[in-house]
Amino acid sequence: MNEYIDKLIQDNKLKLSVDKSKTFGFQLGDKWVGKDKVLISGPCSIESRDMLFDWVGDLKSVGIDAFRAGTYKPCTYPIREDVNGWKEGLREKGLEYLVETSMYYNLPSVSEIMDVQQITQNSLDAIDVIQVGTRNFQNYTLLDALGKLDKPILLKRGTWGTLDEILGACERILEGGNDKLAICLRGVVGAPSYRHIFPSIRWVPDLMMIPALKKFTNIPIIYDPSHSTGYRDFVIPVSKGAMSMGADGLIVECHPNPTKSISDADQAISIDELKQIKEIC
Ligand code: PEP
Ligand code: MN
Repeated sequence: MNEYIDKLIQDNKLKLSVDKSKTFGFQLGDKWVGKDKVLISGPCSIESRDMLFDWVGDLKSVGIDAFRAGTYKPCTYPIREDVNGWKEGLREKGLEYLVETSMYYNLPSVSEIMDVQQITQNSLDAIDVIQVGTRNFQNYTLLDALGKLDKPILLKRGTWGTLDEILGACERILEGGNDKLAICLRGVVGAPSYRHIFPSIRWVPDLMMIPALKKFTNIPIIYDPSHSTGYRDFVIPVSKGAMSMGADGLIVECHPNPTKSISDADQAISIDELKQIKEIC
């Protein structure tokens, strides 16, 4: 297939992720991730019970397949103030809001857990698709533990991750017996030559990794046009790019009042913008 990947296969380092005879993915509402295109959307983080509940109702009317909302938030710098209970997320309290919202609207939830200690009965009950954040892409203790669950996993690419490292991380989850897996591409480190013009750009969109990965694996690929751009103006064009390059769906941050978003405000889009994305996904 390819010299580099072939050698990893021969050395028994890659096996399950590169088995092209296998189907991967999972059921998400009435869609199958890997077969049907899916749109996942919601705020970066749960800001309050009402905010989540009301907003997901609005997003459902756009036709999303699942809602995203973080309750354990990995912040780049320690957040020392407590904003009405939000301190790097609403944490355990947010799990309750995920359950209530998901049951009421009959929509699956997607949310991050940051370490093995957060794999609790409450988080398993509240989160339908467990998101592994970019920072934990090679947290092998976490990946091994998630591999033992019977639960869909959305594995975000580390901002540094190479193609074979992405497959290696997937391999960990598959090895435990969990093949309800999708990869999420969310932008990588680089030297954005536009950073002085658009200061909140932190990553470079990793669109070419979509067809590159598809050469070697059938694991579905969900593209994240929010974190990969960091700037709301580019979310729609990059969404279009990702879908035309073969992504199996998108995960997009969308907020009732984008500029006031408690986290990732510069990349949050409005519901009108999400409607335009729905037309292509
Ligand atoms: C997120 O999805 O809100 C998030 C923190 O993403 P990432 O891990 O890709 O930075
Ligand atoms: Mn975010």
